[in-house]
Amino acid sequence: MRAGAALLVAGAALASAAASAEPRRLVPTIQPLGLVVRELGGDRVGVSVLVPPGASPHIFEPQPSDVESLVAARLIIEVGGGLDGWVHPLLAAASAKPERLTLLDLPGLEPLPAAPGGHVDAGPHDAAHRLDPHAWLDPIRVRDVLVPALAAKLAALDPPGGAAYAASRDRFVARLTALDAEIRATLADHGRSFLAFHGAWRYFAKRYDLTEVGVIEEAPGEEPTPRELGALARRARDARVSAILIEPQLSPRIAQMLARDLGVALVTVDPSGDPSDPARASYTGLMLWNAQAFARALEGAAR
Ligand SMILES: [Zn+2]
Repeated sequence: MRAGAALLVAGAALASAAASAEPRRLVPTIQPLGLVVRELGGDRVGVSVLVPPGASPHIFEPQPSDVESLVAARLIIEVGGGLDGWVHPLLAAASAKPERLTLLDLPGLEPLPAAPGGHVDAGPHDAAHRLDPHAWLDPIRVRDVLVPALAAKLAALDPPGGAAYAASRDRFVARLTALDAEIRATLADHGRSFLAFHGAWRYFAKRYDLTEVGVIEEAPGEEPTPRELGALARRARDARVSAILIEPQLSPRIAQMLARDLGVALVTVDPSGDPSDPARASYTGLMLWNAQAFARALEGAAR
């Protein structure tokens, strides 16, 4: 028993030594970036995501242990736009100098502006913080910009894997093209107007011709005043919104109150994904799951 336990401990130490020597250790800040890079890199890469499943990057508080996962990182994959600015002091604390890939900075991404009056995180790069960070929720931006940029970056970090990454990129691009068609089919013949808990869905809405009637909180934690809630309820009635979109990472309390007032349902959408739920454990799976949730929420809404 004792010897077995000692072996287990030795095994764990070896495993952690192997992990810290991992030459292709990638650290995405948020789960959906982790889903994309896992799907692309397969078993050639080691991926550890900073924001755990079930947590929101908007209100994430890094722990000292997060510094450790950065020490061995070769590549940080971040969103930008103030969403995951908390990674910069972590990098400084880890005195790590990994390469960085920032979604909103990628050529061709064409970020949307942040909503006027929306929450702006304090930070050194003020202009960047006026962008809407949720670009990963547009499968076409992921297909045309993020996936090719990541494949090129992985090939540069790991030249012997170049052909594997290129093949993986091409298969992924084909899946994303099919996903786009499937989302369009899923949302066809539905209403177009939706009311979301927070302002995550503008890239998705723009791509699929949906109309955001309003959001309860522009960024999580910014609770609306009663007056703002009243105005939102009027807009929701005018648009015949038949459901309010909530998210697993955020408290539904205010949405529940508003849904009672309006006599509408709550429908869960998920901007992040969750590796422990098979339906949301890949990027394409997650986005189809979201499209189906939108379709339920758009039943009966104004066209
Ligand atoms: Zn968000």
